[in-house]
Amino acid sequence: MDSVVFLAHLVEGSLPNHPLRARKLLAAGYKTVALKGKLAKTSSYAGAVDSFNGFIAQTIIDALMRPQNAVMLNIYLPCEPLYALGATAMFPEGISVYVTCTQLSLPFVQAAEAVGIPESFCSYHKQMLGMDMAGVLPKPAMIANTTLACDANQLSFRLLAEKPDGSNLYRSVIEVPYVGAELKPGDEEREALVCDVASQLEKMTEDIARMFDRELSEEALCKRCEVSLQTVKNTKEFLALRKDISLPTTLTGELCQLIATHNLCGTDEALEFSEHLLELAKAAQKEQRSEREQEQGSAHEKAQGAVHEQAGKKKPRIFWLHTLPNWQQSVMDIFETTEATLAKAEIVGNDMAYDQIDFLEELEPSKPYDFMARRLVLGSSNGPATRRIKAALAEAQEAGADGAIVFAHWGCRQTGGLAQIAKDTFEAAGIPLLVLDGDGCDSRNASDGQMVTRLEAFIEQFSQ
Ligand code: SF4
Repeated sequence: MDSVVFLAHLVEGSLPNHPLRARKLLAAGYKTVALKGKLAKTSSYAGAVDSFNGFIAQTIIDALMRPQNAVMLNIYLPCEPLYALGATAMFPEGISVYVTCTQLSLPFVQAAEAVGIPESFCSYHKQMLGMDMAGVLPKPAMIANTTLACDANQLSFRLLAEKPDGSNLYRSVIEVPYVGAELKPGDEEREALVCDVASQLEKMTEDIARMFDRELSEEALCKRCEVSLQTVKNTKEFLALRKDISLPTTLTGELCQLIATHNLCGTDEALEFSEHLLELAKAAQKEQRSEREQEQGSAHEKAQGAVHEQAGKKKPRIFWLHTLPNWQQSVMDIFETTEATLAKAEIVGNDMAYDQIDFLEELEPSKPYDFMARRLVLGSSNGPATRRIKAALAEAQEAGADGAIVFAHWGCRQTGGLAQIAKDTFEAAGIPLLVLDGDGCDSRNASDGQMVTRLEAFIEQFSQ
């Protein structure tokens, strides 16, 4: 029995009577990921991902074992105030992905469905609710979320906050105004929207400080914003280099980039991860350019008319929209190289990791609330689907993508709604796009065989 199956077996055995034991077992299991991260050598892509993934694991352990120091929040909430106050982020997408990769999604999603959470509800949030109902998810100090993009968190966080025994959790909600039309920098209306969100964020920060009974240092908050800005700047620079290079990317690595630019943005570890990726991209650019020059200089290679890499064949480059199923081995086998097999395609980017790169010149860390408000209001995740798709198309083109995939995660209305518009837009720009139905957590909503067949057929067209 491998260690993951063994851990899942122990945790399941502790349900439903010993939820605290189940929680401690999960935390103990994730310590191995945290330790692997500490020992990782960041001079390779896999090592850089392991290192940051270890930090994510440690964040999850801290949230599970010291919940009184944690705030439950959603993926879009700016977390710089938490880090300035020495608090921990507890986020469903992270916890649910970890629990899924420990093969424990099913008991929790079923626990949530048993009390009436619809089957069609987003499984990241459903699983978190199931963990709460099973008593495995501890009670955080408070909840903070935004109204931005994700509709699932509006219901799940309300349910989490309202306890049947009356021990309700304090909840702070940032109302992010939907920006329908393109508003230009300096527009009065745009500035008023930013100003309104900035005031809400200031109030939320005061709430968090009060909840922890800690004094907020303005200097520490500005420092966290500087760290966030540099992280997103590095991510933007990384994207600009992608066209030129090939990297052994993984689904987990792409998720790590997404988390580094969202929930963990503002931590030194996220900044270091972005620096490692940038260094790796620069090194790959140098190395692969010189390889190409050598190949182009070779008469024999020229005769064969190819600029090839690794296994002698250029892999199709795929740009990914939305979350990734890093629990699903059959999908990982297509995009990831292992000791035994070669990847059939390379993921060259994920749109969620780049949703804040277009307005960096407007971000001023010395005005932290304005800084965080702009990240929310101006990000490509806010507003109509066409805004996100337009940004994603520009990113895919910048990354030199041959094709794109919209991962239509079960229960995510956002993605379901934009899929067909994205397909039309990308294909009009000459980039074929596959809408891939699946689930980031719940294996019941993902058909391995069908997904692999569709992916292979899609990728095959780029090899012809
Ligand atoms: S997948 Fe969609 S519904 Fe689920 S957490 Fe993400 S944005 Fe929200």
